[in-house]
Amino acid sequence: DELRYKNKEMEQIVYVASHDLRSPLLNIQGFSKELQESLNQIATILDEIDLPVEARAKFAEPLEEDIPDSLRFILASSSKMDALLSGLLRVSRLGRASINMKELDMNKLISDITETFSYQIKEAKARFPINELPSCRGDDVKINQVFSNLLDNALKYRDRKRDCIIMLSGKKEDGHIVYCLEDNGIGIAEKHMEKIFEIFHRLHPGDSDVAGDGLGLSIVRRIIDRHGGKIWVESEPGKGSKFFVTLPE
Ligand code: ADP
Repeated sequence: DELRYKNKEMEQIVYVASHDLRSPLLNIQGFSKELQESLNQIATILDEIDLPVEARAKFAEPLEEDIPDSLRFILASSSKMDALLSGLLRVSRLGRASINMKELDMNKLISDITETFSYQIKEAKARFPINELPSCRGDDVKINQVFSNLLDNALKYRDRKRDCIIMLSGKKEDGHIVYCLEDNGIGIAEKHMEKIFEIFHRLHPGDSDVAGDGLGLSIVRRIIDRHGGKIWVESEPGKGSKFFVTLPE
């Protein structure tokens, strides 16, 4: 009970912090844009004034470089902070959202997901053969989110040196269902296997051709936790990864 209470309290703090920190952030973004406009006005006024060349040169550095550069940094940092806060907010909302358990036809759910991802699958020239899957119990929207995230990652972190093959299988085991999404992508080193489920944790944050916010797997784990299930990964760098998910039967 104490743990549950502490968790609730923690969630409330995260919610309030991420929600309330956004208002001052909007002010920073709004006023930075106003400063940008005022700066443009000053530049126009200066253009219209007859100024000696030397005086004009003195204005050039602050007006054309220093101030615009600073404004760009302020705006870029505040957008980054905005993205982090909305991520936190999404995660904290998940902890409070209700879970509507029902019998899930996984074959239907996965075929819907495959349809949604048909563009990405085609673009990656990936093969994702559909196997017969056992059904389970869960919230259809949330479980769709789980497998969409896992499939999205399998496509994003593919090894571009070989054909991308993704397989999904499922079997009954000790009163629950275990699903396994296997890819032949870049793989994950053992030391990172737990860390990838942490919020905002990305293994290649500077890699510009793979976009992401480091939220996907922490959201997935949270959803699975709330279903009373488990998620873990087995992987070999350079060979591929297997993400296992257990859900109630
Ligand atoms: P994101 O994809 O937005 O970075 P995730 O939480 O979904 O965030 O994943 C966290 C990190 O785990 C990723 O940045 C990536 O480094 C690693 N990862 C996730 N899925 C895979 C996968 N199938 N193969 C290799 N690495 C993966």
